[in-house]
Amino acid sequence: MLDNKTAIITGSTSGIGYGIATALARAGCKIMLNGFIDEENLSKIKKELEIFGNQVSYSNADITNHKQIQKMIEQTERELGSVDILVNNAGIQRVHPIESFPDSDWDNVLAANLTASFHTIKHALPSMRKQKWGRIINIASAHGLVASINKAAYVAAKHGLIGLTKVIALETAKEDITCNAICPGWVLTPLVQKQINDRALLEKISIDQANHDLLAEKQPSLQFVSPNHIGEMVVFLCSDAASQIKGSALSIDGGWTAQ
Ligand code: NAD
Repeated sequence: MLDNKTAIITGSTSGIGYGIATALARAGCKIMLNGFIDEENLSKIKKELEIFGNQVSYSNADITNHKQIQKMIEQTERELGSVDILVNNAGIQRVHPIESFPDSDWDNVLAANLTASFHTIKHALPSMRKQKWGRIINIASAHGLVASINKAAYVAAKHGLIGLTKVIALETAKEDITCNAICPGWVLTPLVQKQINDRALLEKISIDQANHDLLAEKQPSLQFVSPNHIGEMVVFLCSDAASQIKGSALSIDGGWTAQ
């Protein structure tokens, strides 16, 4: 369906980003991977994606550095031909009450979860305009729509990312370019596993119990969303059927924000 399209997925060496890269590769895209990873694991995941028959490249750009973002976009155009699909997925989480929230954690969360998307979109849009086609998908969160305690930076960044999504959708409204956000609930990835482990330690409960409590608190389905669910949603947003979805924040959260 997406034969010959090129997709950059930030933070695609792990978790949700890797699920999105897999779904886009399966749909026919050439893939630019990005994220922190060692040589051995990089060659393993590249091989897994190359099975689908399309070129797979990798950029080690730190997305909190706008010069490195610019280089990643240039590398994509040079190695894969263009930037047709941009998925802003890389993100980090830090959890503290506001009064003890380290300034550096606030800065780092805002840089990775919000400011990076400003820079990737700014540098990728000219390539999309040249092709007269583009899809920008920002991985926000249920925390882009509602809040939880102790997540000031993350909630602020994800709400901001949805605002950015709407502006870009309006600035590209008359073109065959769309910009939307996906708002997942809990997905079992390293980012969430750390929160489960911290909770088990703090409350002196088993990992299984912490798993259950985490879901029971927010996600009525009591099941995790999977990276593949999100990958297939991204593929849909890249389809012709989704060409008039512009500036939306689409939930995939087991009922979290329906409450
Ligand atoms: P993860 O920790 O498994 O993966 C994060 C990826 O981002 C990794 O590939 C990592 O190398 C990369 N990364 C981190 N900082 C980077 C930087 N400065 N430069 C380049 N790459 C960097 O996390 P995940 O759970 O897969 O989360 C992916 C996205 O989904 C994040 O934006 C997160 O906020 C969002 N999200 C996650 C959940 C969840 O339950 N896991 C829920 C809602 C939204």
